[in-house]
Amino acid sequence: GIASYLVKPIRQAELLQAICQILRKTNHVPLPQPEFTLLGEKQALNILLAEDNKVNQTLAVRLLKKWGHTVTIAENGQEAVETLENGEFDLILMDVQMPKMDGLEATATIRMKERTSGARIPIIALTAHALNGDRERCIEAGMDGYVSKPLSRK
Ligand code: MN
Repeated sequence: GIASYLVKPIRQAELLQAICQILRKTNHVPLPQPEFTLLGEKQALNILLAEDNKVNQTLAVRLLKKWGHTVTIAENGQEAVETLENGEFDLILMDVQMPKMDGLEATATIRMKERTSGARIPIIALTAHALNGDRERCIEAGMDGYVSKPLSRK
C-alpha cells in the first residue's frame, strides 16, 4: 500500500515531486506511469556489479539505485560469469582486481561465450589504478569503458 518511495539521502526536489505525484493521484487525475516514478525520462537498467570490496559495493549500489537502476552483485569474476548466464542484464560494471577470477579474465570468458550466442553486453571496468596501461589492458580484454575508483557521481 505504499504510494511511492525515496532513496536516502533525500533531496528536496525529489520529496516535492513524490508528494505532488501522490496528491495528483488521489485527485484522480490520470498520470503517465513510468516504472520508476522519480526518474523522469531516463531508462532503468538491470546492472550486474562485479566487485569484491564491500565499501565499493555499497557506494555503487547506492548511486545506481538512487538513479532507479536495478543492481545485482557478484563477489568475484567467477560469480559474475555464472550470474550473467542466469539473468538478463543491460550492463556490467566489472572490478579489475577480484579473487578467484579477476575482471579481465571474467570479461575474456564472457566475450568468448558471446561468440556463440551473438550477444554483446557492454562492460565497464572499475579499476583502482588509472595509470600504467590499465586502460589498454581493459580494452584488450574486451571491455568497452573504464572508470577509476573511488567511484564518483560524475
Ligand atoms: Mn577488487
